[in-house]
Amino acid sequence: GPSSNCPPDVETLGRGTWTLLHSIAATYPEAPSKSQQSDLLSFVKLFSRLYPCWVCAEDFQSYLGREVPRVQSRDEFGNWLCGAHNEVNRKLGKPQFDCSRWQERWRTGWRDGRCD
Ligand code: FAD
Repeated sequence: GPSSNCPPDVETLGRGTWTLLHSIAATYPEAPSKSQQSDLLSFVKLFSRLYPCWVCAEDFQSYLGREVPRVQSRDEFGNWLCGAHNEVNRKLGKPQFDCSRWQERWRTGWRDGRCD
C-alpha cells in the first residue's frame, strides 16, 4: 500500500500522481499569465515523457496528441485533466467521474461538508 516502505506499484504511483496533478489544477490561477500558461503546458508535455510507467506514459502522450491541454484558466485545465483521468478510468474499467464536480473533490471540499 501507499504507506509501505517498498517501491510503488502502478496503482500507488497512479494515486499519488493524480493527487499531485489535480492539486496543481486546484491551485492554478483563474487568470494565468502567458508564462504560467506556457510553464503548465511544458510541464504536462515533459511529464508525459518522464512518467515512470511506460505503457501509461505512451497512452497519455497519444491522448495529448488528440486532446490539446487547455491551460487558459483553472477551470479549463481542471476539466481537461478530469477528461484525461476519465480516459484512463475507461481503459481500466473504473467508473467515470462527474467533471462538473472536480473542484469539490480537489479544491473546495464537497458541498455537503464531509471534508470539514
Ligand atoms: P485513481 O484513478 O488513482 O483516482 C484517485 C482519486 O481521484 C479517486 O479516488 C477519485 O476520488 C478521483 N478521481 C477519479 N477520477 C477522476 C477524474 N476523472 N477527475 C478527477 N478526479 C478523479 N494504470 C494502469 O493500470 N494502466 C495505465 O495505462 C495507467 N495510466 C495512467 C496514466 C496516468 C497519467 C496516471 C497518472 C495514472 C495511470 N494509471 C494507469 C494509474 C491509474 O489511473 C490509477 O491511479 C490506479 O489504478 C489507482 O486507481 P484508484 O482506483 O485508486 O483511483
